[in-house]
Amino acid sequence: MTMTPQGLPVAAMLINGRLVPALSGETSISINPADGIPLAAIPYGDDRDAKLAVDAAAAAFPAWASLSAAVRAKYLHRVADILEHRRDEVALVVTNEEGKPLREAQGELQLSVDSLRWFAEEARRAYGSWIPDPVPGRRLLTQRMPVGVCGAIIPWNVPCAMIFRKAAPALAAGCTMVLKPAEATSLVALKVAELFVEAALPDGVINFVTGKASAIGNVLLTDPRVRKISFTGSTEVGRLLMRGAADQIKRTSMELGGNAPVILFEDCNLDAAMAAVAALKFLNAGQACIGANRIYVQSSIYDEVARRLTEHAGRMKVGYGAEPGVVMGPLVDMNAVEKVEELVANAIQKGAKLRVGGSRMQGEAYEKGSFYAPTVLTEVPQTARMHDEEIFGPVAALYRFETEDEVVELANNVPYGLSAYLFTENMDRAIRVAERLETGMVGINETRLGAAEAPFGGVKMSGIGREGGREGLEEYLETKLMAIRVRG
Ligand code: NAD
Repeated sequence: MTMTPQGLPVAAMLINGRLVPALSGETSISINPADGIPLAAIPYGDDRDAKLAVDAAAAAFPAWASLSAAVRAKYLHRVADILEHRRDEVALVVTNEEGKPLREAQGELQLSVDSLRWFAEEARRAYGSWIPDPVPGRRLLTQRMPVGVCGAIIPWNVPCAMIFRKAAPALAAGCTMVLKPAEATSLVALKVAELFVEAALPDGVINFVTGKASAIGNVLLTDPRVRKISFTGSTEVGRLLMRGAADQIKRTSMELGGNAPVILFEDCNLDAAMAAVAALKFLNAGQACIGANRIYVQSSIYDEVARRLTEHAGRMKVGYGAEPGVVMGPLVDMNAVEKVEELVANAIQKGAKLRVGGSRMQGEAYEKGSFYAPTVLTEVPQTARMHDEEIFGPVAALYRFETEDEVVELANNVPYGLSAYLFTENMDRAIRVAERLETGMVGINETRLGAAEAPFGGVKMSGIGREGGREGLEEYLETKLMAIRVRG
């Protein structure tokens, strides 16, 4: 690996099977959010690099698409083998660049491997059908075809698994891909790109371009050879990309922002519920699309829930994610810290009560990083901004409710609909409420939603389409009808 004059490793993009710098020669610097120390120089690509990547993906498509699904599966299993072998090394890059504790980074790696293996196999079952035809002398059949060249744009908060949630089904289906990671976690993506090179995929099947988001995004939107945009990120950018994709009627999958309600009924198993809610709330320092944004607690258990959550938040070990015992790392950058500060100040000003945290972490160990303390706010009014916006930080916001009908209405009263969670020992109530919640996913006495086998995604302004599961493969397939004349 080449080094900068300051001794910083220089990462490379992957275009047409080669690890390359940006055509401009420019780089940006990737930073460890725990201590502000530079990790690597990242190629700062633009439209010219993106165009080369689309050229490569378009050239690679016919041959890749015509391989059998079984042969493509072999390539994907090979990437999975390499990823498993290098699991610790890649997990450490995730922790160093994104901030999450190593144990969480390891979880991401597992989901990545699972996605590769599951889609490798699932694409072998992309059946068409023979349709009973009302017209004599004709046969109708359908065949599943890959969509074509796909553009993938991913966020920073799940920087490794997100690559495979898109690339595994796309490549398994016979599509080729140009992937643009988030600026903050480009090093993780370029590390993953090296694994694809090691697996010796045919040139151009997958390409990684880092750098100027709008310029790269614009090429993916305007080049007619790109037939689909798969995006995970904020609703705001998703809307922009959908508008852009409309010009050429490109297919889109949108995994957008969430604002998950968590409902604790008085008849829940409180010990189990509290452990699950605390783990969910502080997962990735609160920077998760499926994170607990609004915690609704039935009046009779409200004080006890507030007490336990406050105690939990006060005991958490916060720090550099590779340090033993650390359960929560930094936020991704100082902008994120400032946004959380704003939301907390706004809630307190509107009447919320601060139980613990409510500030940046104090002390020498935290000075150079972007740390915010685990925080609990009670009696948060619905007029607080954090009720309507994603907090994306380690702030538990507790709201009070009395009845089932009331809480369902409150839970649905936002424009987002990614995930929701409810805790009750009454199964009738669990199913009744789960069916009424306007979200793509509901956890019942459970907060872990993800698996390679399961469809993940939202409704309303949380997106369109699903990642994972059979549905995740559908996103990269078209149905072609063939009508055949049969004589005699
Ligand atoms: P973001 O929307 O700011 O950025 C996401 C990606 O879009 C990045 O790669 C960014 O560089 C790129 N981008 C930004 N402007 C662009 C443009 N004009 N053209 C092309 N690309 C552009 O989101 P973020 O801050 O990286 O991620 C956090 C958001 O992602 C949260 O809202 C979170 O809920 C959401 N998210 C959703 C899911 C899900 O599955 N629904 C999963 C993880 C994160």
